[in-house]
Amino acid sequence: MEKKFETKAIRTQIERSQFLEHSVPMYLTSSFVFEDAEDMRASFAEEKERNIYSRYSNPNSSEFIEKVCQMEGAEDGFAFASGMAAVFSTFAALLESGDHILSARSIFGSTHTLLTQFLPKWNIGHSYFKIDNLDEIEQLITPKTKVIYAESPTNPGVDVLDLEALGKIAKKHRLILIIDNCFASPYLQQPIKFGADLVIHSGTKLMDGQGRVLGGITVGSKALIDKIYRFSRITGPALSPFNAWILSKSLETLGLRVDRHCANALQLAEFLERHKNVNWVRYPFLKSHPKYEIAKKQMKLGGCVVAFEVAGGLEAGRKFFDAIQLLSLSANLGDSRSIVTHPASTTHSKLSIEERTAVGITDGMVRVSVGLEHIDDIIDDIAQALK
Ligand SMILES: *Cc1c(COP(=O)(O)O)cnc(C)c1O
Repeated sequence: MEKKFETKAIRTQIERSQFLEHSVPMYLTSSFVFEDAEDMRASFAEEKERNIYSRYSNPNSSEFIEKVCQMEGAEDGFAFASGMAAVFSTFAALLESGDHILSARSIFGSTHTLLTQFLPKWNIGHSYFKIDNLDEIEQLITPKTKVIYAESPTNPGVDVLDLEALGKIAKKHRLILIIDNCFASPYLQQPIKFGADLVIHSGTKLMDGQGRVLGGITVGSKALIDKIYRFSRITGPALSPFNAWILSKSLETLGLRVDRHCANALQLAEFLERHKNVNWVRYPFLKSHPKYEIAKKQMKLGGCVVAFEVAGGLEAGRKFFDAIQLLSLSANLGDSRSIVTHPASTTHSKLSIEERTAVGITDGMVRVSVGLEHIDDIIDDIAQALK
């Protein structure tokens, strides 16, 4: 019988070493030794699956990859030094000069900058589709289109995209559907079930969950991952064994942590919805969310991020941030510590005002990554700052 998610998160393990350790040790080694000349030759000829050099593979990254594959229902994966290394290497490995990416308009700020400023250097183009009009996607497909790319929920606006609808479009047009699943984590949503070919995570967020390390991963079919592996073992964006060890340990408590993140986030969202100094609140599991039904269909819970707008525009927004006492003013998310961010002046400041408006990032918008402190203390701090 297939094991349940929580069990896989704890019991997916590489072979024990000669010391029969219970907890997986760290393999801080850059290379691995060969038994003899024949072993050396056969290893490099890829006649056997084994570790050669930690830029290619390492027991700790292999363990982390295996766990995420189990959680996402994927065949294989490659682990990266950061989420952006995963995004870039995935595009670079799969696309050629002249190819075209069809991406949702609401995406992480650095991914937007990659699409608009760097990929064009290698003649890789893109178009954006609006997330509330998936019909538009089919009109934007060109003979050069190879990839459909999206996040759900999105950063920072927590919009939700219909993954099943995206999966159908990708399949019909034989395009590779890549989903950045960072905001949901594998615990809340498994895009492969809905037709995604590849799933990307920034391990930095909910996977680590304690704001310690950067990391990233791409998982999916063996054939696509093999291309990503060939590119990455040469170009060197690999995750360090130490960070892989941290991330793999963190996954053991992912379900527990994310349950609490989501319970806290929903309570905060409900509080904000009733507050007179708040113009609007967006959280996938609030009934008022425009995609509430889709969120319920594809996610187990609503996630850790709540977006809202402080009444009174930029000036009121600044006052709000300056009045915050307990929560951190920081740019991370998915941390045990609650974090408030001002997307317009931080993570999405590289976008023009028009680009920000198009994805719903207003000057008064606040993104809260709801942490694991007691919900009463989180709400108290936000309530006094709103006052
Ligand atoms: C943070 C983030 C990334 C990038 O991850 P890093 O680990 O910071 O490189 C990519 N996508 C989303 C949705 C993110 O929130």
